[in-house]
Amino acid sequence: MQNKTYYLKLFNTMSRQKESIIPHDGKTIKMYTCGPTIYDYAHIGNFRTYVFEDLLRRTLKYFSFDLLQVMNITDIDDKTIKGALNKKMSLLEYTEPFRQAFLQDLSTLNIQKAEYYPRATQHIDYMIDIIMKLIDKKIAYKGVDGSIYFSIEKFPEYGKLSHLDLKNLKMGASERISADEYDKENASDFVLWKAYDETRDGNIFWNSPFGKGRPGWHIECSAMSIKLLGETLDIHCGGVDNMFPHHENEIAQSESFTGKPFVFHWAHCEHLIVDGKKMSKSLGNFYTLRDLLSMDFTGAEVRYMLLHTHYRTQLNFTFDGLKAAKASIQRIKDFIQRLKSINTESSFNLIADVLQKTRMNFKEALSDDLNISVALASVFDLIREINHLIDDKKISKIEAQNVIDLFTEIDEILGCVFIDENQTIPQNVTEAFEKRKEARKNKNFDLADELRDFILDMGYVIEDMPDGARLKKK
Ligand SMILES: [Zn+2]
Repeated sequence: MQNKTYYLKLFNTMSRQKESIIPHDGKTIKMYTCGPTIYDYAHIGNFRTYVFEDLLRRTLKYFSFDLLQVMNITDIDDKTIKGALNKKMSLLEYTEPFRQAFLQDLSTLNIQKAEYYPRATQHIDYMIDIIMKLIDKKIAYKGVDGSIYFSIEKFPEYGKLSHLDLKNLKMGASERISADEYDKENASDFVLWKAYDETRDGNIFWNSPFGKGRPGWHIECSAMSIKLLGETLDIHCGGVDNMFPHHENEIAQSESFTGKPFVFHWAHCEHLIVDGKKMSKSLGNFYTLRDLLSMDFTGAEVRYMLLHTHYRTQLNFTFDGLKAAKASIQRIKDFIQRLKSINTESSFNLIADVLQKTRMNFKEALSDDLNISVALASVFDLIREINHLIDDKKISKIEAQNVIDLFTEIDEILGCVFIDENQTIPQNVTEAFEKRKEARKNKNFDLADELRDFILDMGYVIEDMPDGARLKKK
């Protein structure tokens, strides 16, 4: 079987077609991913987008691209200010625990670290520089409320990303709004610098040449992406809900500032819904990652659930779906365990083609706009085929190791299987497990049974396998 070269193709929201990914500078992919606003814990809908971005990151590496990724942390907006003032804390004191929690959640979901996680408040000077230049170019102006606005009339291409017909949507100056978020039905000049308001902002403000205040949300992403990655990005990702107006505004202000294209490739992840409905606190179907962990699901299981549906399709979260994700991971783990127990020395030469076919199908599926369902199907086809060979005792120890090696390679993408479980198993359980091994070796079976009962009480079972015992969650 011949090795084929696959080009990684990704759907571009701007051109509405799949396009090959090529680094603009011939070397490194520059990727920007809109990050969280840290006024609360992120929910599983947010994490769907971050897991998609991680799949893209891992796939780019799998296709041998060098990569620089930035994910911004929004630590200044109306919600963070309100939270800090309510708790009588500084902005940093209020937001820092949520930033730490976010980073911890990323690691629970085995999301690879981006190269940079800049905080908006660290780059306010550069935001001011951009706004100054837009004022000089007469693209930005001061509104009656003292805030600085971007005039979308000065950017005729406004709307080119979201393909909305904005002709009938543009609002008159009198209806102009200064909120960070406004609904899809309204396109209007948007705020670059929000003038200080004592009742709303308390003691939280920055000085600027155009008065006290704070930057708008959209300008943050333009400033941090240009500063850290350069004027033109290869890939910009985010959730579909950020496409308009946030990304449209990022394009308008960045291209007006640099005079160059802002992004070559836009990738948007679809919504997550719960039991067929929009997730909302009022419907009682709102989940953070932490909620699911407290129900005894693991990060790997939540990750698999968020990962296994194609990113441009709505993902309907259900607990049955999460249980199915759990079962899929267990199936892979049981299979690996079965492979590890093979001791046959003689080779049968029946697996090389099967492995090669799986590797090609897996890679080809990913190359087609990250078609993860097809990629996963190839993995389970492999399990089925190899299980038949194991049933017929037609696979050697070395061949079994070759299969495990392929799974290690595949898990570079999935990130759900070969996780150091000792990190997630409580220390007193692993200690009891080690002591039990020792007790059994010394034929102290009473103590061994006592330790087994303790481990059971802690929610773990011991499986005695041909290659030794292992711990497993009940
Ligand atoms: Zn953004």
